[in-house]
Amino acid sequence: ALTDKLSRLVKEMRGQARITESNVQDMLREVRMALLEADVALPVVRDFIARVKEKALGQEVLGSLSPGQALVGIVNRELAATMGEVDDKGALRAPADINLAAQPPAVILMAGLQGAGKTTTTAKLAKHLIDKRRKKVLTVSGDVYRPAAIEQLKTVTAQAGAEWFPSTPEQKPVDIARAALDYAKKHFFDVLLVDTAGRLAIDEALMREIKDLHAALDPVETLFVVDAMQGQDAINTAKAFKEALPLTGIVLTKTDGDSRGGAALSVRQVTGAPIKFAGVSEKIDGLEVFDAERHAGRILGMGDIVALVEQVTAGVDMEAAQKLAAKVKSGDGFDLNDFLSQIQQMKSMGGLSSLLDKLPAQMAAKAGQVDMDKAERDIRRKEGIIHSMTPLERRKPELIKATRKRRIAAGAGVHVQEVNRLLNEFDQMQGMMKKMKGGGLMKMMKRMGG
Ligand code: GDP
Ligand code: MG
Repeated sequence: ALTDKLSRLVKEMRGQARITESNVQDMLREVRMALLEADVALPVVRDFIARVKEKALGQEVLGSLSPGQALVGIVNRELAATMGEVDDKGALRAPADINLAAQPPAVILMAGLQGAGKTTTTAKLAKHLIDKRRKKVLTVSGDVYRPAAIEQLKTVTAQAGAEWFPSTPEQKPVDIARAALDYAKKHFFDVLLVDTAGRLAIDEALMREIKDLHAALDPVETLFVVDAMQGQDAINTAKAFKEALPLTGIVLTKTDGDSRGGAALSVRQVTGAPIKFAGVSEKIDGLEVFDAERHAGRILGMGDIVALVEQVTAGVDMEAAQKLAAKVKSGDGFDLNDFLSQIQQMKSMGGLSSLLDKLPAQMAAKAGQVDMDKAERDIRRKEGIIHSMTPLERRKPELIKATRKRRIAAGAGVHVQEVNRLLNEFDQMQGMMKKMKGGGLMKMMKRMGG
């Protein structure tokens, strides 16, 4: 599997201090394969790889990262930046919410192929605008080809708690839209969501129809709804819709499916429009703000393991970790202060349960058998015990005999057995640190995780 190959390459690259032409080649080949397997369109892949290579070459590798890990970081960041929105300093930021800056009613036009999820997303957006933005929302269906489609919108609109404007298959879509707009104005709606017909493939008549709708409605948002499971063809669909309409945003649906969702990268690149939301279930509340970072990890096919690497390196105080490693190396010994600082670093990584969220499915299932709340309480208790020790005791744990144990236990409000347990754990950790001779926190965390 890809993951195995990547991690093998990451290992092989360990100990080299710089990303070079020769060590980057194999890694990039794997990344290219990963993108193609995720159904990113070929021209988009080529572009992307070239950009990553330019960014990576010659880059110094920091701290305890290997060039392989550093490259995974670069690939992940570049992927996220390409699919997501960045501020003028180049930092990733959340996509803007639905734009409603128009004389009410603000019109939102939904476009996309049949089955992409337009009708479902229309209702999800209605709910979002009602719940989060306190808006009065009207929906209408311009899908006159399938009577069931109009009924479907009626049903899901009711679930959203919005109002539905009736239409019939005998009417022309543009007439329906005008009547709905008129009604929305008269009844002081803030937003009019216009659902439209789709075809199974791009066709001229359909494109003309949606262009006419756009001209008649002058929407403030024209959203392209696209199925995350759509394969290589997503790029052509996106091109066709972009040529027909001034798209203002994308909704990526069915991200809960098992595809790796490479369509996101192609569609973002081709349309230039921001991916605003992701559909995460069939249900009415299954809509989330698009998270480019998370989606990048998914495209790379590594679960969210990449994000995990990033979180670990961001959360860990590299300097403190290196100091710790140097200490062990110089024979200064690993004491309870170091043990405490490790416990605290675990916490600074965002807590155990947030790490659990990022593990790939199989690992998470296993880890899920652990009671996370209990584990976090445990960490707090350990901290409490160490805090009840004197500085001397922390530096020389061997001094801690029965009387001191009783005092420490009383101070921390725990039983003496718990103090014993902590000291045992510390002994084990100390042994491990000695064996590793300065391998650093990253290595140790790996060991602890394995
Ligand atoms: P339309 O033809 O573009 O209007 O597509 P629909 O809204 O009718 O959706 C087509 C199918 O996809 C329906 O069965 C929806 O329930 C399903 N669907 C839409 N969005 C999502 C999603 O985010 N996740 C999942 N699992 N199913 C979705
Ligand atoms: Mg529909």
